[in-house]
Amino acid sequence: MKIKLNDSVKILSGNNKGKVAKVTKVLSSKGKAYVDGINIYKKNVRGQGIVDIQKPINASILGVVCPKCGKTTRVGYSINEKGFKDRICMKCKDVI
Ligand SMILES: [Zn+2]
Repeated sequence: MKIKLNDSVKILSGNNKGKVAKVTKVLSSKGKAYVDGINIYKKNVRGQGIVDIQKPINASILGVVCPKCGKTTRVGYSINEKGFKDRICMKCKDVI
């Protein structure tokens, strides 16, 4: 999973295409993520009335928005001088 909690992501296809929002939860094992305010359905629950249900989105249709250059980018990795893996923006090459 290249998407992390609190990333800004752009939705690349589907009903919410083009929207940008923050990742609120990542389901790594399923390859899905919850994105703030996106994919919310109204559901009629007996005894509770209509409640909002949020469904996770497939990570494959989410693009990470680089906080440095503001572009939707692919995420790459580089090893820094301390031997740790950094996530880098493939557009501006900055660590994100
Ligand atoms: Zn960038």
